[in-house]
Amino acid sequence: MTPAQKESITGLILAGGRSSRMGGNDKALMQFRTKRMIDHVFERLAPQVGGVVINVNQNHEQYKSFGVRVVSDAIGTYAGPLAGLHAGLSVSRRPYLVSVPCDSPFFPEDMVERMFDTLQNSAAQIAVVMTGDQPHPVFALARRSVLEHLTEFLKGGGRKIDEWYDTLKVVHVEFEDEAQFGNINTPEELEAYEKGLPPPPRPQKQRFKRSAPVEAEIPAEHVAILDSLLNGTANAAAAAAAASAPASAPAAPAAVVDRRSKAAKGAPRRRTADKLETAVEALLAASTSLEAVVSCIDGYDPNALPVAKVNEVIRSFVKPAQGFEQVAIRAALGRVLAEDIVSPINVPAHDNSAMDGWALRSSDLSASAPVTLTEIGAALAGSEYTGRPGPGECVRITTGAVMPYGCDTVIPMELVKAEGKRITIPAGQEAGSNRRLAGEDLQKGKPALMAGALMRPTELGLMASLGIAEVKVRRKLRVAFFSTGDELRSVGQTLSEGQVYDSNRYTLFGMLTRMGVEIIDMGVVKDDPAALEAAFRLAASEADAVITSGGVSVGEADHTKQIMKQLGEVVFWRIAMRPGRPMAFGRIANGERSAYLFGLPGNPVAVMVTFYHFVRGALLHMMGRADLDLPLLQVKSQEAMRKKPGRTEYQRGILETKNGETTVRITGAQGSGILRSMSEANCFVVLRHEQGSVKPGDLVDVMVMDGYA
Ligand code: AMP
Ligand code: MG
Repeated sequence: MTPAQKESITGLILAGGRSSRMGGNDKALMQFRTKRMIDHVFERLAPQVGGVVINVNQNHEQYKSFGVRVVSDAIGTYAGPLAGLHAGLSVSRRPYLVSVPCDSPFFPEDMVERMFDTLQNSAAQIAVVMTGDQPHPVFALARRSVLEHLTEFLKGGGRKIDEWYDTLKVVHVEFEDEAQFGNINTPEELEAYEKGLPPPPRPQKQRFKRSAPVEAEIPAEHVAILDSLLNGTANAAAAAAAASAPASAPAAPAAVVDRRSKAAKGAPRRRTADKLETAVEALLAASTSLEAVVSCIDGYDPNALPVAKVNEVIRSFVKPAQGFEQVAIRAALGRVLAEDIVSPINVPAHDNSAMDGWALRSSDLSASAPVTLTEIGAALAGSEYTGRPGPGECVRITTGAVMPYGCDTVIPMELVKAEGKRITIPAGQEAGSNRRLAGEDLQKGKPALMAGALMRPTELGLMASLGIAEVKVRRKLRVAFFSTGDELRSVGQTLSEGQVYDSNRYTLFGMLTRMGVEIIDMGVVKDDPAALEAAFRLAASEADAVITSGGVSVGEADHTKQIMKQLGEVVFWRIAMRPGRPMAFGRIANGERSAYLFGLPGNPVAVMVTFYHFVRGALLHMMGRADLDLPLLQVKSQEAMRKKPGRTEYQRGILETKNGETTVRITGAQGSGILRSMSEANCFVVLRHEQGSVKPGDLVDVMVMDGYA
């Protein structure tokens, strides 16, 4: 696309909806990944077009920050995307107009160019984005001449975009990645995208109730499950959920075909829809199953699962625990904020001085010569100076004191020559210097903290600076843990031949306590079916999550795995990592109550490594935290490290800074039972899945341990 062609296109952001599924919050203005949603869309669209217009029907002022035209619907208000398109076309003077919705921040950077090329090479009036057989009608590039048609269509009472397209010559522009056209309609979807998780399934059941085509309502990844449900070949859990589905299974495969066939009408369609509805109910039940989650993971292999996929499964499956408390800000230390905090005041409340010195009017300053002003009074922190300095006058001021009327600059004491009330200021002082502006820390009406924030000392101070005494936090998570293994003895007992002290319960105690969860220490549980079942049942009814160690290795002869399987839905993995290969994950139940299960390996280092790298993030997600991952730094390795590609290794390392350079070395023997390797370490050296051996001087990823977990 040439610059002239780009100049010929107006970009229209459709932000004129009611955002009813966002509970009426204007979604374009909602915060998403540190910005407003519309900021993302604007930044994506603006470089692709000659100019931008925004269609809105509320909060007009807040959209003016872009300095572009903001237009409302001309026909009624909230009359849908066509009314927005009509408004945009009416004000645009360029020959083409491309529309994008305000809640789709991911569309491709070359979208407009590709649409333009297609439209230019066709006789069509409008180009519409498609991914596979899914149209995305609000991503459309129109010739301006369609305005006439559109006006007629709207006058005739038409409101539906698909119906309007049926009256036009449309060309489809194929894009590969459906996710790029994903939109954010609900708080749940916003939360999921914010955390980089797959968005929650849309409430499909409701959609099927409409008479609209059933087509395109089922995400592709669910079609397979749906097929199996309709065919009666579903797994046991899904089949149980589908028990109420009609018995006429043979007709079912046709139903799936009907879903794609626009020709299917009338009674057969209704029967299909009924059947689908029942199946979808089952699907919804099944879609929260672990089986459904893993079926959506590309290349899922439980026997050689890469670390990244482990986290993908875990984080798709676990859900934040519900429940809140209102607590005094001091008691909120270490807790997770449950609601956004909007600043009730400006901090600071007034423009004030950042230095001790003299406040003056910058119009009195000179770039080329010193100026001498007359001091007419003093402004002290805590008591307002009420005089009004005129030209040639200044006021002595202390740090934090409110700026006197008309003064905009403070010259610090050390730069000034004071002789009695005669104050001489050197040449070349900058206007506005050493003045703090009202609201520069926290602006009234703007979010000061977002839900999901960890309340650290800083956040307590921030709340106090706003005069807020109490905050709403999420309830504490309850985590139960126990060790399994007949060889284990507890501290205080004597060891016989072949026995070891149980250390895992102590490392788990420490790591969980530091995370600020409520712990339930269930001791050592013998490798006895009745004892294990009782322990798991108790944990499932008392806790949000249960963590065990030991008994999950492949070929392990004990009963742990069997009981886990019996009590819920649990998968057993061999993870492509070292240390810590075996792990169990799932959800176990006792009657109505249930808990997520993390069955960690037995080796003491493996327990800590799997905790840090899988369990920690999962628990944070359950706690409602927005930030789940620890940062990785890159530093030079002092030494060679042998490593095979195809697994992630977590070596225990020592980060040290000498002569201004930070390097890392490993802590000697790295066996998964050698807890000393953790004790001497201050970081993990993370050797990535695809990485090979490391030479001295190579950069490696490290994750600092201190202060975390
Ligand atoms: P397992 O996964 O049960 O086969 O255990 C692997 C290794 O870890 C064995 O050598 C166990 O003795 C050891 N182990 C298991 N649980 C603990 C524990 N709680 N404390 C210390 N070592 C343990
Ligand atoms: Mg064991």
